[in-house]
Order: sequence, then C-alpha cells, then structure tokens
Amino acid sequence: MNQIKKIFIAQHATATCCRGCLYKWHKIPKGIELNEEQKDYIVNVIMAWIDREIKNN
Ligand SMILES: [Zn+2]
Repeated sequence: MNQIKKIFIAQHATATCCRGCLYKWHKIPKGIELNEEQKDYIVNVIMAWIDREIKNN
C-alpha cells in the first residue's frame, strides 16, 4: 500500500480527516485556523495509528 493511501486511511481511522470529525471526536472547533499545538496533536494521532498498523502487520 502506498504512503498516501495509508495516510488517507489513518485520517479516517483516527477521525482527523476533516474539520467535522476533528470537532466531533477531538473537540477542535471548526472555522478557526489550527494552531501549532493542534497540528502537532493531529500529526501525533496519525503517526501513532500508522505505527500500530506497522506493528500489527
Ligand atoms: Zn471527516
């Protein structure tokens, strides 16, 4: 599986795919620009998921 596809799946699995999911699951408000802390948080969530996937395979 290529990296782009993996990240796409990870974003959906971790509910970081869009602002609606970020709001619903991570309580990050819609309509405001993400700050550095929030971006770091999202990247960490995605990376942790990918890490788990790699270990499980
Ligand atoms: Zn979404």
